[in-house]
Amino acid sequence: MNQTLKQDIETLVRLQQIESEIYRLQSVIQKVEKEKQVLASRRKEFESALNANKLELEEIQQKCNDAEQEIKTVDDRIIKSNETLRMVKTNKEYQVLLREVDDNKKRKDALENQLLEFYDQKEAAQIRVEESEQQFLQLAEQIKAEQAEIDKKTVDDRELLEESLAQQKKIGQDLDPSLMTRFRKVSRMNQGQAVAQVRNESCMGCFMNVPPQLCIEVQRGNQLISCPQCSRILYHVNDDPLSGE
Ligand SMILES: [Zn+2]
Repeated sequence: MNQTLKQDIETLVRLQQIESEIYRLQSVIQKVEKEKQVLASRRKEFESALNANKLELEEIQQKCNDAEQEIKTVDDRIIKSNETLRMVKTNKEYQVLLREVDDNKKRKDALENQLLEFYDQKEAAQIRVEESEQQFLQLAEQIKAEQAEIDKKTVDDRELLEESLAQQKKIGQDLDPSLMTRFRKVSRMNQGQAVAQVRNESCMGCFMNVPPQLCIEVQRGNQLISCPQCSRILYHVNDDPLSGE
């Protein structure tokens, strides 16, 4: 057996062990990130509802202000007309002013009725804002706690991932860069599995048969053999403990 190749295969097998761990950790972390995203979008949903209610309250508040302002204007007109009323000389002038006062009073009544309606609407809008504010704060608090819990759970995994990546980089330096590239490529093709054992003339990666001639080549170990089905780099382990290999 080619000694360099034997070492390469040993390195590849070690790399594969770490690669599997890296893939496992990454999938755990990804899943957790997705959970966090779901929580964040739920928070956003409640925040939007709260903002919509706030906007509605602002609008009704503006309507109240406008109506109050207009009532004040009409009121001023009535007061002024009443003052003038006391000073008029002719009956005709008197009648005109009286009608003016009457018209303004009707206008004021209508505005006041409208304002009462606006006040009701404002009160309802205020309740909606308070309710959704409470809901939002409660949810935000809950989500914050859940996210912290999620982060806590993955602290160890993230650390382990960093270590594994560093370890893999270090071990990979023993390999020819082109072999490392091949490892990476095959790993990507097979969801993190670049190297597979051959057992009973089968690839333990894809469980398809490996032609006998290739199996012999793998056993001989004079060149790197890829599985014809899945492209994983194949290696052989002698199951017989007495063979001394
Ligand atoms: Zn295979």
